[in-house]
Amino acid sequence: MDPRDSIVRGDLLIENDRIASVDANGAHADTVVDATDCAVLPGFIQTHIHLCQTLFRGSADDLALIDWLKKRVWPMEAAHSARSIAASARLGIAELIKGGTTCALTMETVNHTSEVFRVVQESGFRATVGKCMMDKGDEVPEGLREDTDASIQESLALLEQWHDKGNGRLRYCFAPRFAVSCTRELLEQVGRLARERGVMIHTHASENLTECHIVETETGLRNVAYLDQVGLTGRHVALAHCVHLSDDEIETLRKTKTNVVHCPSSNLKLGSGIAPIARLLEKGVSLSLGSDGAACNNRLDMFTEMRTAALLQKALHGPEVLPAKRTLRMATIDGARALGLDAEIGSIEAGKKADLAVISLAGLHTSPTPDDVVSSILYSAQAADVQTVVIDGRIMMDDRRLRTLDEAAVIAQANTETVGLLSRAGLK
Ligand SMILES: [Zn+2]
Repeated sequence: MDPRDSIVRGDLLIENDRIASVDANGAHADTVVDATDCAVLPGFIQTHIHLCQTLFRGSADDLALIDWLKKRVWPMEAAHSARSIAASARLGIAELIKGGTTCALTMETVNHTSEVFRVVQESGFRATVGKCMMDKGDEVPEGLREDTDASIQESLALLEQWHDKGNGRLRYCFAPRFAVSCTRELLEQVGRLARERGVMIHTHASENLTECHIVETETGLRNVAYLDQVGLTGRHVALAHCVHLSDDEIETLRKTKTNVVHCPSSNLKLGSGIAPIARLLEKGVSLSLGSDGAACNNRLDMFTEMRTAALLQKALHGPEVLPAKRTLRMATIDGARALGLDAEIGSIEAGKKADLAVISLAGLHTSPTPDDVVSSILYSAQAADVQTVVIDGRIMMDDRRLRTLDEAAVIAQANTETVGLLSRAGLK
């Protein structure tokens, strides 16, 4: 069996932060997790999230991308305080862990990125975090619109402070928001600096037709062609969405080994369209999954994204397209590859980091258990079936109880901070 498809139904031995043995029947261990009637999977890896937007859940519904940004998301991001963004990150991470996600690539807002890193560090979660960069646009609210050089200097300072900290759990990436709100100068500098410093770039691309039209009018190029010209393609680049692509752009993504992050629920809810996933797979473009932020989904649930991704392509191209096993890879090892971390996480192999999700298959909706449990995981299981989560060898949730975060306190703080946030944003 291909180790990339590993789902374990036997004993696993973990020593410190790593998997010591996959076939460990009878081995002695100080702590034992009972996984009877469960499947043990590599933890899910979400490659497009905004932890800063978790408090915006339910406050930005039923709008298309540009209005959604200008009327709701940007004013709320501008209104964040250190306290509210920490509450937002805690809420997001708690929800992610409870649904079996052990690692995320997250684009934060312009300010307070260190607060998010602190929450990731304290909670024990694994994340690649980037401060959002925005140095262009008349309708960008005060507090978000940056000077080009200041944006780069702050990003570099965050990189120095946080990259590769927490036993490697915390990583930095450059996160220019999208071509519409960044100058060419900023994007070119980010392209150069990311290569020099050996870190990722995380941005949005070709999510919405209005966005594509703005970029084409300003630059004379299609969005992905423009990003390629300014140095924002390559195996270290993750482009969220890529819903509207020409054949030439797909060829550019393939040639440059650029990673595309598919966010099917977000694309449906914002009415952006359906990304050409079957075609990207056929061409060999790197693909992984993300739920995007809670302001446009409104769940941070990999089970929802896997199922929606598979069903959408089947409706378009037939039931053989995007089979369960292939979709599960997008949620695990392919996400690890997009982050440049496939030697460390994304599959269950001796020597890799112990990032695991134990999923119960004993529920009504997952019974009877088929021989191929991937079917259960993809089409029947849900976030509430995740029993135990391990990150970096540490038990983060056991029997559905979070170990590093106080669930009731996280919810209470989120509710309190959202009241203040909406008021500061002038939305209540
Ligand atoms: Zn996004």
